[in-house]
Amino acid sequence: MKKVPFVTKEQVEEIVKTYPTPFHIYDEKGIRENARRMKEAFSWNKGFREYFAVKATPNPYIMKILQEEGCGVDCSSLTELMLSEACGFQGSDIMFSSNVTPAEEYIKAKELGAYINLDDITHIDFLNDVAGIPETICCRFNPGGVFKMGTDIMDNPGDAKYGMTKEQLIEAFQRLKELGAKRFGIHSFLASNTVTNEYYPTLAGILFSLAVEVKEKTGVELAFINLSGGIGIPYTPDKEPNDIVVIGNGVREQFEKIMVPNGLSDVAIFTELGRFMLGPYGGLVVKAIHEKHIYKEYIGVDACAVNLMRPAMYGAYHHITVLGKEDAPCDHTYDVTGSLCENNDKFAIDRKLPKIDMGDYLFIHDAGAHGFAMGYNYNGKLKSAELLLKEDGSVQMIRRAETPKDYFATFDFSDILKNMKW
Ligand SMILES: *Cc1c(COP(=O)(O)O)cnc(C)c1O
Repeated sequence: MKKVPFVTKEQVEEIVKTYPTPFHIYDEKGIRENARRMKEAFSWNKGFREYFAVKATPNPYIMKILQEEGCGVDCSSLTELMLSEACGFQGSDIMFSSNVTPAEEYIKAKELGAYINLDDITHIDFLNDVAGIPETICCRFNPGGVFKMGTDIMDNPGDAKYGMTKEQLIEAFQRLKELGAKRFGIHSFLASNTVTNEYYPTLAGILFSLAVEVKEKTGVELAFINLSGGIGIPYTPDKEPNDIVVIGNGVREQFEKIMVPNGLSDVAIFTELGRFMLGPYGGLVVKAIHEKHIYKEYIGVDACAVNLMRPAMYGAYHHITVLGKEDAPCDHTYDVTGSLCENNDKFAIDRKLPKIDMGDYLFIHDAGAHGFAMGYNYNGKLKSAELLLKEDGSVQMIRRAETPKDYFATFDFSDILKNMKW
């Protein structure tokens, strides 16, 4: 599928008059339409709800849009809980799927009435001591081994730090029941960025069978099954996007096959998607500011891994469109680099692109999830603004760019920088 940016060169030339590059920009229309498709695909399940994984795009304006579309939020830290609370999420709007959880985070989650998802059996006593056991509680399952679909190895749960074994999960439910819990959830996250319509149905099959076993062995009331995150997006143009309607139907088939005959037809399905909800609907817009011809051809841009870390961190592919040259032949080969003193600070390596001229704007695709959010400040580089392309075509700043003052703010206790020239 040819990747088409949701902004044109003309739009960007207009935007930079107010907000200079680099910036992240999000497409409100795309976000809303996708969220509606998601909701519709699971509308067969009475209690269905998507809990947007806040860590993917922790911006209150984005969270508000998803709230308007009926989503809850999935948090895993104190600040994510605080942000969600400030946006008006409360109680059952919040899923708290943390691990290695500090006491203060459990206390906050309990105070907000969030659904708490326990990563480990040892957290039962910990939670009981610091905050008490809520009436509804969830446990995270890790089946161990390798997770295969057909002959494809998808991921390696046996090596993952998350979740509990089946025996522990059953024991945990019994113990939680003794401590007063009344309603239960089961959660599992087995593979990330899956670009196949089979992942969720396969996972659902595993969790639904587990639910039947848990019900038989413990007699607890099951409230929900949380399929968590993991539905991916096609970062490369050769891949087909997932079809959420097919995925929803696949989960429904498993539900009707396993849950309904076992008296579990009232159990709600929850999801905790991040990438699928936001990934394609955000882009990083950068400007070509240097070119360099040594052993390879380099294009230097005004952003760096601080603004989008996935290529440097995972070698991840992010498609690039040179705005205004959408239909030009890709007859040049470039490394597109940032300015960090780190040789892995490259948005693209040996990428076929049209000839790039200084001042060209590049649209780096699929940066809407795990993009801005992973940013850091290495080399003293500052994080960019985030903008929202609204449905009416106007542009709203939804986070300002960092300034040096933000970078030095953690020295505000001290006089040592009092001669700083701003
Ligand atoms: C990161 C994460 C998600 C979201 O994952 P995506 O791949 O963005 O869908 C959901 N749940 C938990 C517990 C996570 O850690």
